[in-house]
Amino acid sequence: MITIDGSFGEGGGQILRTSLSLAAITGQDVTIENIRANRPKPGLRPQHLTGALAVAEICGAEIRGAEVGSTRLIFKPHTVKPGRYEFDVAKIRSSAGSVNLVLQTVLWPLAFTHKQSRITIKGGTHVPHAPTSDFINNTFLPTIAEMGLICHYEMITAGYYPIGGGEVRLEIRPVDELRPVHLTRHDEPIKVEIISAVSNLPMSIAERQLSVGIERISALKCAHTEKLTQYPSPGKGTVFFAGVSSGRIKAGFQSLGERGKPAEKVASDACDELETYLASGMALDKRLADQLIIPIALANGKSSFTTSEITMHLITNIAIVEKFLPVHFHMSGGLGEAGMVESFSA
Ligand code: ATP
Repeated sequence: MITIDGSFGEGGGQILRTSLSLAAITGQDVTIENIRANRPKPGLRPQHLTGALAVAEICGAEIRGAEVGSTRLIFKPHTVKPGRYEFDVAKIRSSAGSVNLVLQTVLWPLAFTHKQSRITIKGGTHVPHAPTSDFINNTFLPTIAEMGLICHYEMITAGYYPIGGGEVRLEIRPVDELRPVHLTRHDEPIKVEIISAVSNLPMSIAERQLSVGIERISALKCAHTEKLTQYPSPGKGTVFFAGVSSGRIKAGFQSLGERGKPAEKVASDACDELETYLASGMALDKRLADQLIIPIALANGKSSFTTSEITMHLITNIAIVEKFLPVHFHMSGGLGEAGMVESFSA
């Protein structure tokens, strides 16, 4: 039984998700203690419980402590079964819990089975502090496709805070092994894809977001393409996304509309992050960096990447992965600085 201290490092929900994914893949029993100890409301929140129950379902795990508020979870996995699954975060009082964080939790165990899986997840597709469906589609999935995992992803409806009601569908073609990646330098010109979208709000908001995006990105002397669109949704919301592409390197910067936040500010928040990233000259944005630790640890060989910022999420995810798998990571650069990460088989 592996014991994970959930108060370690970032001390948030990611420790739980990474631990459960890896327990399911390796078949190791795990106890996670002090769950989300560093958050204002510690313990399992409904969206974390949804993720935990989703992994338990795909691997027929015995699970104890699976209740909202629980700070200790015992998880004993069995064999992961590929197939068709549907998860709905609204079932546990969490209408707008992130579908994409649930997706990233079940993705890796299902990827290493022998058959294709099809999953449907309902909840929030565009919610704060989680990758939006634009980020998943344009940044995360193309990068893991480079490692050999091909998925087809479709957002049927967008789900925003507070009512959620979004739906995504994912088809996962399983792999025998993942290829390592080396993402360290921009060797090719940088192109930016701008997406500006609204749901059940005037199109003029998306137009204002887009025009700020075009102005800011043109000033950076990057070629760009633009997409102005409406996402079907039961709720109201807006999103601005700037997706960077330079050969095999992808990075993504997202910002969501909020009541009282001008459309111009929505776009400029994401453009500020894009500018900081480009100024660093590094390959990966700070979010994709932490999200790639699991596949890099599972890949067959040494990988390396540079990132615009070493975050506590990155450091924490590395420490958790090293507890489950025979892999070791080396990081150069301190917390909050640009840096390089390399993986080695232990
Ligand atoms: P908690 O409520 O405990 O903070 P959580 O499960 O909601 O937990 P984190 O543990 O903070 O969240 O993990 C959030 C994940 O979402 C990380 O992998 C992070 O990279 C990703 N993420 C957060 N913001 C963004 C963003 N703007 N763009 C892309 N990915 C993001």
